[in-house]
Amino acid sequence: VVMEYDGVFPSDPLLLADLPGIGRSTAAAISAFSSGTRAAIMDGNVKRVFARVFGIDAYPGEKKVEEAMWRRAEALLPETGIESYTQGLMDLGATLCTRSSPDCGRCPLQPRCVAYATGRTKELPVRKPKKTSPEKHAVMLVVVDNGQVLLQQRPGAGIWGGLLSLPELDGHVLLDGELPRLIDQPALTRAVAPFGEIETQELLLPIVHVFTHYKLHIVPCRLTLSRRHQMAAEAGYVWLDGDKVADAPLPAPIKKLLLDLLDR
Ligand code: SF4
Repeated sequence: VVMEYDGVFPSDPLLLADLPGIGRSTAAAISAFSSGTRAAIMDGNVKRVFARVFGIDAYPGEKKVEEAMWRRAEALLPETGIESYTQGLMDLGATLCTRSSPDCGRCPLQPRCVAYATGRTKELPVRKPKKTSPEKHAVMLVVVDNGQVLLQQRPGAGIWGGLLSLPELDGHVLLDGELPRLIDQPALTRAVAPFGEIETQELLLPIVHVFTHYKLHIVPCRLTLSRRHQMAAEAGYVWLDGDKVADAPLPAPIKKLLLDLLDR
């Protein structure tokens, strides 16, 4: 203020809002109280009052909803008495229309409050919508032969980097709701061909693993072989004895899946 405004505290809310630590609503309140400027406030308390009085059925943290609230607040500003109006609005939000127990019986806005009239004071304002994480599906091959299970070392980067895991099948599985129904057979035959010939195959119920950014539905496909090929050329693959699974460097959900399957 000393450097930019010669020591005179600005009264224009736009200039005030440019000062560090002063947001749009605070600037409006300062300006209203110090200079009688007709400027709208919209802090958390006032948002709650507006959401309830006008029955706003959308999350006020959403940009377009918030902008609409600002426009409404500006349109409602009284021609005179901005100080009392602003103070009244702030006090109403802080003391009567509180978050968890609004005192509607004593509230002067009760006759025109949509939330009160429709019994929705608990639902309004609308809470922040929960983020839904994307869902991915992966068919994982559980090739079991002669008491051993086929595993593949994962690349160093990415999820489960460097750990042993089940080989994944490129291509898709058709899901019937959450149940695996039909697998891409040519892709399956191609994937297993280097290791042997398929004798039996069975799609098992998917298991769900939640990562920070997405949810992975693992569809296990259990296979047995009628003949196993030597696989010297297939670097990165190992046949692991079933009794070594518990101590192997496997991702937790894969280890659990294998232990469950080998136990049966
Ligand atoms: Fe808030 Fe109740 Fe007043 Fe409506 S009537 S503004 S919900 S205190």
